[in-house]
Amino acid sequence: MEYPRCSYWHESADNKIEVNKNKEDLKEKKFDVLIIGAGLTGLTTAYLLKDIGYKIGIIDGTTIGYGVSGYTTAKITVQHDVFYDYLINSFSLEEAKQYLKANEEGLKLIRKIIDENNIQCDFQEQTSYVYAVGDTELKQIKEELEAYKKLGIDGFYTEELPLPNNALGAIGVKNQGQFNPLKYLYSLYNILSNSDSCEIYENVRALNIEPHNGHIDVSTEAGTIHADKVVVASHYPFDDSFGLYFLRLYQDKSYVIAARTTEEPFEGMYINIKDPVYSMRYQYSEKENLLILAGGNHRSGEKENEEDCYKELEDFLNTNFKGAEIVSKWSTQDCMTYDKIPYIGLYSKSLDNLYVATGFKKWGMTHSAAAAIILRNKILNMDDDFSEVFNPSRITPTQSAKEFFSSAKSIVTGFLKRIAPVPEELLVVDAGEGKIINYKGRKVGVYKNENNDYFCINPVCAHLKCSLSFNEAEKTWDCPCHGSRYDIRGNILEGPAVKPLDKISIKK
Ligand SMILES: Cc1cc2nc3c(=O)[nH]c(=O)nc-3n(C[C@H](O)[C@H](O)[C@H](O)COP(=O)(O)OP(=O)(O)OC[C@H]3O[C@@H](n4cnc5c(N)ncnc54)[C@H](O)[C@@H]3O)c2cc1C
Repeated sequence: MEYPRCSYWHESADNKIEVNKNKEDLKEKKFDVLIIGAGLTGLTTAYLLKDIGYKIGIIDGTTIGYGVSGYTTAKITVQHDVFYDYLINSFSLEEAKQYLKANEEGLKLIRKIIDENNIQCDFQEQTSYVYAVGDTELKQIKEELEAYKKLGIDGFYTEELPLPNNALGAIGVKNQGQFNPLKYLYSLYNILSNSDSCEIYENVRALNIEPHNGHIDVSTEAGTIHADKVVVASHYPFDDSFGLYFLRLYQDKSYVIAARTTEEPFEGMYINIKDPVYSMRYQYSEKENLLILAGGNHRSGEKENEEDCYKELEDFLNTNFKGAEIVSKWSTQDCMTYDKIPYIGLYSKSLDNLYVATGFKKWGMTHSAAAAIILRNKILNMDDDFSEVFNPSRITPTQSAKEFFSSAKSIVTGFLKRIAPVPEELLVVDAGEGKIINYKGRKVGVYKNENNDYFCINPVCAHLKCSLSFNEAEKTWDCPCHGSRYDIRGNILEGPAVKPLDKISIKK
């Protein structure tokens, strides 16, 4: 199956892989550990388990690198915006220490894997900066620096910044990193596929998880797979029978541009605090050095016209990097928890052999590696002193309330749209447009291409029946509730949905 989206990482990863496992062989197969999802989380977890003596199966619903890991900006850092002051004040110093330590271990693990295997993924050590463009944010920067002191983070304040926009001051953390995430992911795949303990299958979507006494059955498009332990590394946990993740997560989208600039590339990785947020860094490779600029953040499904987000980013580029030439642009979304800490550990406290890692809130490079360590430890019954803060069964109403109530608005809108009457003017669909129309008393999602072919689907998400919106920029049907995305034919591009949309037959 061909997938339409592409990022600079897909264009530049010269170690492309070919997965040739036959999915027919999967039927009734038994593994010690089955990992669902072959992004950075899934493959790093498999990497840590490959020499234990377990038989490990890895399945991915699409192709390797097609998840968020292939669309990220790939800053590998423990500096996650301004966050440690929030953690200390809303949780505790002890929990902030755990969060930091897990991410430090994640950063160390990525470096170790690259060194041990001599992986050529354009890894570079960099200083990470979070910067302020206004006085209120400058105050936040100073508070964050105090939090660094309490936690022993070796950070520093500076006003000497090479950025073209009006940055007032920043905190830096040295010895962080950046890389080409797909070159790294493909190398992980090559290492795992050469190991006798791992079998990796693409285009096999897990549909349902059924725990039994001592083992789990996972039904997939290729039949049922049996495993003693199952890791759900599918980005958004797709099975709603346990854990209520659909109530505890939302997705947030960002847009990315890779551009050739006329100025000399600057060192360092940068992000500012307050909206509009712009993340900037250069990607250095043997071939060329490109600016990687990200921004335009919004909750998935909330923007009427996503082209506006690209436009905002392009305006920023043209104003601050005169003469820049766009090489590639793309968008993607990440899972967010309401209390801002990922869920890593047991999927549900009632099941001791089902694990999950999600909610990395756009800081998934160190978090995916930290998750691999935590899940490895849990699977092998090994203790550590940093996993408790990520416990997916935690209850944090005070810390979660603000984000939850603002997200509830989108979810309710998504559900309500389902029953709202469709206005008359939606009946005309122009070429290149997608709209929801009323056809013989029912709602139909219609996309018309430049050749006047119509693609008609039921515009109701196959996950939890929210109403879908058409994303003009990417020609996809997007769910505002939990972030599932479908192409114009209704095929799944991103979960948590596990079934495609129903096609509807309609005459022109
Ligand atoms: C715009 C943007 C920029 C970012 N930049 C950074 C950054 O600079 N630094 C940073 O640390 N983090 C960043 N992140 C976050 C980071 O990219 C992600 O958190 C991380 O890549 C998630 O990895 P993953 O393996 O958990 O998910 P994915 O890479 O999405 O992998 C999940 C896999 O599971 C598969 N799957 C899904 N459902 C099923 C199913 N039912 N059955 C089988 N397979 C399934 C998918 O096909 C996919 O391949 C960014 C995120 C965004 C949105």
